[in-house]
Formats: sequence, structure tokens, C-alpha cells
Amino acid sequence: MAVYKDYVITLKSRAYRDHDALVTVFSQRHGKFSAVARGARRAKSKLAGQLHPLTFSAVTLYHGRSTLETVTEADLQKGFPRIADDLERLGWGMVLADVLDQLLPEREPSEETFVIMLAALDALNQGRPAASVGLKAGFRFLAAAGFSPDWTLCGQCGRQVGEGPVTVDVEAGAVYCPTCRPGRGESQISLGSLRSLQYWLNDYPNRFGQADVQGAMEEELKALFFRHLLHETAKPLKSYQFLSNIDRLAGGPEGEKKA
Ligand SMILES: [Zn+2]
Repeated sequence: MAVYKDYVITLKSRAYRDHDALVTVFSQRHGKFSAVARGARRAKSKLAGQLHPLTFSAVTLYHGRSTLETVTEADLQKGFPRIADDLERLGWGMVLADVLDQLLPEREPSEETFVIMLAALDALNQGRPAASVGLKAGFRFLAAAGFSPDWTLCGQCGRQVGEGPVTVDVEAGAVYCPTCRPGRGESQISLGSLRSLQYWLNDYPNRFGQADVQGAMEEELKALFFRHLLHETAKPLKSYQFLSNIDRLAGGPEGEKKA
């Protein structure tokens, strides 16, 4: 299998040698890996525009004696150009790419994760509420990677959680009803947020725009997501900083965010 074709979502691209780029892609049939795009940084390169982060392309790859594969051809299928029109959309797109880069094991395909990422990029490109798209996809990625507490039953009394505020213990991977854990600051979310989260985790993987959150729910789910992620990867995402800066520019959590 020296030469093969696949579909890829580009997660990352960085300069490599004089004129090449080293791209990290999530491919449909071969999972995540890095490959060299020869000459991609030359102005006239046919590869240049086809392997930007947050794009979807059909590629031909060559696997020679080097451990790194080479992208020999790339044909852009979807560029999602409108993601870059808006900083919040771009921020969430970068977060999702980062999450996949960190969470996915090398060369293990995951059809569901692939479908979710493609649909999430589509939804961001269409201007759907960026945080809800990012959170649904992000929590699904965590769940697909096996990091998913039981969000429905109280970790102590075992009853269905039907009241808020709900305490989430990321380390123990459990949620607790207000009777068992009568609240401690930052690890709490409202019942509404828990319901949205449960909805997203059980919804069709490629459907966005349902159970969208905003305001306080958006903020607490965002805090929970990044805390959860940090617990799993033990490494803060660079894109998280970017997203936080945008929030600050928009006037913080209370700032107005209009689509
Ligand atoms: Zn309980």
C-alpha cells in the first residue's frame, strides 16, 4: 500500500523544512496522523490552499521508506470559508481541531467522530450558535474517547437527577443530586445545562442547532467542558486561550453576542 486515497479533515499545519508543510490530519479511513505536504509553502503549489486547518479534502498519500507519509495530491471538498469571518466561530473550530489532535489515538479511524467533526464545521460555517456547536461536538468527542461520566444518575443515591443544581465531579466521573452534594461553587451546573448535555450526547451525531444554550448555561457548560478536558489531557489547549480572549473582547460572559 505505497499509494492510497482518503478523505481528511486538516487539524493543524506548520512549516516544515524550506518549502514543505507538516500537516496533522484526521482521515476517514486511517484516523489521525501527520504527513508532509511537499512544497505546500511555495506560492504556486497546488497543495497550498487544499490543506489549511479546518478544511475537508480528498487526498492521495504516498508511504515510502520514511516514517512520515507524503501528501502527493489534494482536492479541496469543503473549505468552510465563513468560519474565519467570525472570531467566535474560528475559536471553536480551533478548539475542536485541538481536542481531536489531543484525544485521538494515532491511526485509529472513528467514523462517528469523523461525521461529528464534519457536521460541526458545516454548522459553524452556516453561522449556527458557535458555543453550542462547539460544546455538543466537544462533549461527544470526550464521550467517544471513553471519557463520559453517567450524566443521568446520581453517583451517590443512584436516583435519576431531577433537580438542580447538579454537582459534577470530573475526577470521579460522576454527577450528584443536590440532596447528596449540596453544592460547592464551580463544579455546579443547573438542571437545564445537564438536560442540554444529556440531549446532545443522545442526539444524532451530525445534527446541530437543537438544545442550544446561551448566557449562564453556556458559561457553565463551557467551564465544565474545559475542566473535563484538562482532566483528561492534562495539557491546556492553546485555542482555549484564544477563545477566552474573544470572550473578554466581547465584554466577558455577560457581553452581548449576537449572531
Ligand atoms: Zn443523590
